[in-house]
Amino acid sequence: KLYNMVQDLKGNIRVFCRIRPAFCAGTRNVIDFIGEDGSLVISDPLKPKKDGRKVFQFNRVFGPSATQDDVFNDTQPLIRSVMDGYNVCIFAYGQTGSGKTYTMSGPSGGSTKDLGINYLALNDLFEISNQRKDIISYEIQVQMVEIYNEQIRDLLSEDSSSTKLEIRSCSNDNGLSLPDATLHTVKSTSDVLNLMKYGEVNRVVCSTAINNRSSRSHSILTVHVHGKYTSGNMLRSCLHLVDLAGSERVDKSEVTGDRLMEAQHINKSLSCLGDVVTALAQKNSHIPYRNSKLTLLLQDSLGGHAKTLMFAHVSPEEDSFGETLSTLKFARRVS
Ligand code: ADP
Ligand code: MG
Repeated sequence: KLYNMVQDLKGNIRVFCRIRPAFCAGTRNVIDFIGEDGSLVISDPLKPKKDGRKVFQFNRVFGPSATQDDVFNDTQPLIRSVMDGYNVCIFAYGQTGSGKTYTMSGPSGGSTKDLGINYLALNDLFEISNQRKDIISYEIQVQMVEIYNEQIRDLLSEDSSSTKLEIRSCSNDNGLSLPDATLHTVKSTSDVLNLMKYGEVNRVVCSTAINNRSSRSHSILTVHVHGKYTSGNMLRSCLHLVDLAGSERVDKSEVTGDRLMEAQHINKSLSCLGDVVTALAQKNSHIPYRNSKLTLLLQDSLGGHAKTLMFAHVSPEEDSFGETLSTLKFARRVS
């Protein structure tokens, strides 16, 4: 295998691309080639083949037949490093319908088969905790919030509508950037499944011209890990699992009022995320964390020793070509 995970883990930012299966067999597929080495060739359906081809290179590309386990296997080393004290952020980026929620949570409709990274990650963390119990005792806690129109809402609170959360500097005593968000200690995967279900129901979904249940908010599942070695040493780290709002550009002539405001907030926060990750990749001295709630909230887990993984999700159908190209360009910019 050309792809070398160990080598990839030396860098702090990596990008995986995932292509979801085509919904109907009849449509033309714009993905021409997927390489073992993370390369991808797409072709513009409106241009002759030789002019319309574009090549992209990522750390890894998962084709339509990749399973949840395939994706998790390549993500696992990164996730495991949380148990050694690293902060980790995993983002799912892409247009609505491209498979972000499938990768992070699992199939739509609440099936318990093919569960995604959120569940597999926690399952793995419990396993490590158990394996290491003679040398370190771990406590694992989760928070789940949503950022909608630059306001942060607690998805695990019983009264999530009334509480608007404020971000604190992580240098406070408990190291939490959202000290007022509900914090649940989890001990088993069934605890996690119950919380995830509860949080999903609380997420804002509404109608747009593109998709009648498109997600217009970022949802963030944060796993706080607290370890106490038998030697007395302590360890604290966190894993952020982020299902971003759809990246599709909204036609300003079609939406007005609330929908237009949503679209503008989404555009702004996604472009801020791109700016931050690009600045980190280029090792700039100024990182513009303060330009959006999303980057401000994740500040302590982006940059420094923290590790970042961006999943760029694309749809294979020809009518998505424009959005696919823009997702791939975004992902190339941050890699
Ligand atoms: P998004 O969250 O980006 O809007 P979804 O994850 O909801 O997209 O995916 C859209 C639909 O496609 C859902 O019904 C989902 O279950 C399905 N889907 C997405 N990715 C895959 C995949 N890799 N394999 C099978 N079905 C998928
Ligand atoms: Mg979704």
